[in-house]
Amino acid sequence: MKEIVVISGKGGTGKTSIVASFAALARTAVMADCDVDAADLHLVLEPKVRHSADFSGGKQAFIVTEKCIGCGKCRDVCNFDAILFTGPANDVIDKTYTVDPIACEGCGVCVHFCPNDAIEFRDVVNGQWFISDTRFGTMVHARLGIAEENSGKLVSLLRKKAKEIAVDRNNDLIIVDGSPGIGCPVIASITGADLVLIVTEPTLSGKHDLDRIADLAAGFNIPTLVAINKCDLNPDVAQQIETDVHKRNMKVVGKIRYDDAFTKAQIMKCSVVEYTGGAVSEDIKALWRNITYAC
Ligand code: SF4
Ligand code: SF4
Repeated sequence: MKEIVVISGKGGTGKTSIVASFAALARTAVMADCDVDAADLHLVLEPKVRHSADFSGGKQAFIVTEKCIGCGKCRDVCNFDAILFTGPANDVIDKTYTVDPIACEGCGVCVHFCPNDAIEFRDVVNGQWFISDTRFGTMVHARLGIAEENSGKLVSLLRKKAKEIAVDRNNDLIIVDGSPGIGCPVIASITGADLVLIVTEPTLSGKHDLDRIADLAAGFNIPTLVAINKCDLNPDVAQQIETDVHKRNMKVVGKIRYDDAFTKAQIMKCSVVEYTGGAVSEDIKALWRNITYAC
């Protein structure tokens, strides 16, 4: 089984549109949308959810009013000013302490120091994850709550589920729409993958982002390839990117011309290769052939 992860230095490079086309070309791969902070592969693949579950990426303190004796120890030890003296009365005192769920960082210190075991450390639901059917096979995806963190953990969970499904169905290919950037979610996206494809575009910021993400990928010793999207918009920078990639002993395996079919396909909720048989689709098909060859 092979797992191909598609990432980019930032959002907006056309990564997800390219992944959707890969799904259409592969036909039977298991898909995982691990761009959990801005998931949008579902807009094109229109998944029909057949399993959903809560995702809990962390814990938070919760003061049990009936047990609180109002000593204030928890407020003294909390470094995040998350304990407030605004809780309701109980049988013993007129006012108890309570936890501000927005401010609580889930460190657990207050739980440890409470003299009356009045603080519970509860799992927090940060979002939901799904297993769905699409017209190109099974897709694993998620919806993270607004401003929720722990997206790295969620990415790891989605990749684990995608692998289990692939093993279960004897499927030999997983295509992952990875997180952009260089933070925890992207590290969680590529760790242990068989192949990484970086999608970039020929702008100075695209070149800079590519440098950062290529450095990151190099640290994981994973075979890494590059595709330049909208390559004809700035041929000089595209050439510089190709030279830089070559110096890194990596390879540009695809150049995709600019085409508003990317936008139009998204509006029609289909992949670019479904939307048009034109030259831009041929670019994507050539890229896909090179990737499957490299696997
Ligand atoms: S440390 Fe425990 S008993 Fe004391 S105020 Fe906090 S929750 Fe209440
Ligand atoms: S778990 Fe940590 S951050 Fe949350 S209330 Fe307790 S001490 Fe403060």
